[in-house]
Amino acid sequence: MIPGNFDFHCHSAVSDGLLPPAEVARRAAGNGVDLWALTDHDDLGGLPEAQAVAEAAGMGFVNGVEISIEWKGVPIHIVGLGFDREHPALTGGLAELRSGRIERAKRMGDALAAIGIPGVFEGAKRYAGNPSLISRAHFARYLVSIGIARDVPGVFQYYLTPGKPGYVDHRWATLEEAIGWIRLAGGVAVVAHPGRYKLSGAEMRRFLDDFKDLGGQGIEVTSGSHTPDHILHFARLARHYGFHASRGSDFHGPQESYVDLGRLPPLPEDLKPVWRLVG
Ligand code: AMP
Ligand code: MN
Ligand code: MN
Ligand code: MN
Repeated sequence: MIPGNFDFHCHSAVSDGLLPPAEVARRAAGNGVDLWALTDHDDLGGLPEAQAVAEAAGMGFVNGVEISIEWKGVPIHIVGLGFDREHPALTGGLAELRSGRIERAKRMGDALAAIGIPGVFEGAKRYAGNPSLISRAHFARYLVSIGIARDVPGVFQYYLTPGKPGYVDHRWATLEEAIGWIRLAGGVAVVAHPGRYKLSGAEMRRFLDDFKDLGGQGIEVTSGSHTPDHILHFARLARHYGFHASRGSDFHGPQESYVDLGRLPPLPEDLKPVWRLVG
């Protein structure tokens, strides 16, 4: 089947999205998505429910995940698609990543207490639908609720980004680990929202060289966080590297995302769509 509207990047409350997997699935189908992947951060727990509801709604479904890595000190996200969700290399690697998140969240709480905002770890935990997957997004929502900033982007800007008081360094997975887990489980590795990283043009090319050498096959060209210029730029890089192109809204919830499920421009027509590898 040739999908008319595929969306391979979004989140449910299993990570830092606002809706349960079933509601994300129904919303995607309602928006006309015909091939869909749920890609929660570092956790596969939403996939069975997402698949059951997607299939009942007549929508094609692909297993997905968004893995947090660090490359030369820069935090980067790698989307995995079309893998066996029971594979122990992938489930074991992700379990370890999640335990690192809890430890990091405690250090974030300590850092915020040190500037006079106590109890934030406990507060953020109440916003996490999945106690083992606590994200800066949950910290941001709690900090908005106690009036520290007006909205979530404001909290990130003043408290939760590098150099700001609530940001702590953390060791995520390596690029090699993330691509290795995905490939061992039979899936395809895709660079998530490349327009968001703080990399120069030369650094981005070095990163993509490494990604390709390690077995990476795809790159998000159309993304909820890409401008029209980003789409042109990353389409050129996809052609240069021979990568398959992906398309994903990165939807987190109706109140927080500018781009809704499936509501993105189409991929440039000459690119190889990544669904050919996993659909
Ligand atoms: P973490 O994986 O815990 O580092 O949290 C990263 C998540 O925070 C991302 O997946 C987004 O959902 C959210 N996020 C990151 N930066 C921003 C920002 N500037 N404004 C709003 N949300 C953000
Ligand atoms: Mn997120
Ligand atoms: Mn991301
Ligand atoms: Mn995402």
